[in-house]
Amino acid sequence: MRRLLIANRGEIACRIIQTAKCMGITTIAVYSEADRHAKHVRMADEAFCIGPAPALDSYLAIDKLIAAAKGSRADAIHPGYGFLSENVAFARACAQNQLIFVGPSPSAMAAMSSKSDAKTIMATAGVPLLPGYHGDEDNLENLTRAAAQIGYPVILKPALGGGGKGMKIVRQESELTEAIQSARREAKSAFGDQTLLLEKYLTEPRHIEVQIFADRHGNCVYLSDRDCSVQRRHQKIIEEAPAPGLSDHLRKAMGEAAVQAALAIQYVGAGTVEFLYDSTSQAYYFMEMNTRLQVEHPVTEMITGQDLVQWQIRVAEGHRLPLAQHEIQHQGHAIEARLYAEDTEQGFLPASGTVHFLREPVSEHAPAYPAQQIRTRVDSGITEGDTVTTFYDPMLAKVIAWSEDRQSAILQLKKLLSEYQLGGLATNLNYLQRILSHDAFVQGKLSTHFIEHYQDTLS
Ligand code: ADP
Repeated sequence: MRRLLIANRGEIACRIIQTAKCMGITTIAVYSEADRHAKHVRMADEAFCIGPAPALDSYLAIDKLIAAAKGSRADAIHPGYGFLSENVAFARACAQNQLIFVGPSPSAMAAMSSKSDAKTIMATAGVPLLPGYHGDEDNLENLTRAAAQIGYPVILKPALGGGGKGMKIVRQESELTEAIQSARREAKSAFGDQTLLLEKYLTEPRHIEVQIFADRHGNCVYLSDRDCSVQRRHQKIIEEAPAPGLSDHLRKAMGEAAVQAALAIQYVGAGTVEFLYDSTSQAYYFMEMNTRLQVEHPVTEMITGQDLVQWQIRVAEGHRLPLAQHEIQHQGHAIEARLYAEDTEQGFLPASGTVHFLREPVSEHAPAYPAQQIRTRVDSGITEGDTVTTFYDPMLAKVIAWSEDRQSAILQLKKLLSEYQLGGLATNLNYLQRILSHDAFVQGKLSTHFIEHYQDTLS
């Protein structure tokens, strides 16, 4: 790989450019008219405008990205996360144009793009699933029967869903018919498909995910796990690695289940297998697999000392994984806080404006080369003078701290956030500090309902 086009923007585009440069690869940025002066454009060796601000006309326009790649003589495309990173048609278009897509094969992506199909594949591979119905005959009769069998509460999800859209919790049978109708309506309008799955609703689960990596030679490993339970409306806010309070035995079992999941679909590249974890019974259940690099990958890099973007590029070039399972260690604890441009006083509405003033805490090192003993890291997509619009995801930067144990990592992250100074638009900085200072968080009382439970004390 000599010339890599990064089909993304913001912090992840900057993150990928950094590693690619360290590997001697020429980096090519793409940008919309709104991003003409953006940080990722200035960081890259070359940059191409691909269209107007709306993502559909730029960062989501497959033909424009392929044309930019061909026009710039790129030999590979890194999709980052979001945008086209899990788009099968994009991966296929890359292959048709002799461009290396830094990611899994289109068929592996397609296998995981429907939650229902993914569950069927995982059941065959022996990965634990929540009881429920995920077949093709998702009619009222079958769904009602499944719900009665497993017992309420249950949850309905659009098979092709994402971002928490269209999901309905159903607490009793009398609510089911209406919930199915409204879930189908939302699924149809958001995802163009109204297939639903139904599963047992866990009342107090944790979201735990396993980072896996596979190469084209049949090797697959897991790189520890992450807890991403602190979410607001299913959007992650704080992530940490390793997931606190798991026994070594359980960690290994989840890691191995995730590897089984990846092997079942001949997966290649970086992937994340998401589980719901029930602390009371210590049971874990496959939720879905994300076929891309995750936003929260830095916490894994910090505890394992590996550069996952470098791994992605090496694997895409056809190399073997750099480490075998027994060579992958994790040390200490890392926590990431997502800095969003949003007004926490006004219903968390996305904020826009000009970054008049910016002083970010100094990254000891960014990204991970190697990350061990690196305590502070800021992955940012903004610079002073930037205009933040509401065209794109409101995440501005990620602040990550590593320390020997969870308690000192929390303190370290609070210190870093206190040094983060941004003027010109509303952010969730204070809100992040309140979460990190909250007794329940400090004590590791994590659940996907954390924010809901403590809403009053956090605002
Ligand atoms: P999406 O792809 O739309 O984000 P997921 O299936 O990944 O949907 O679920 C998103 C979140 O919804 C999970 O992180 C969890 O908080 C909650 N959730 C999903 N399924 C269940 C379940 N069966 N029981 C309890 N909570 C669930």
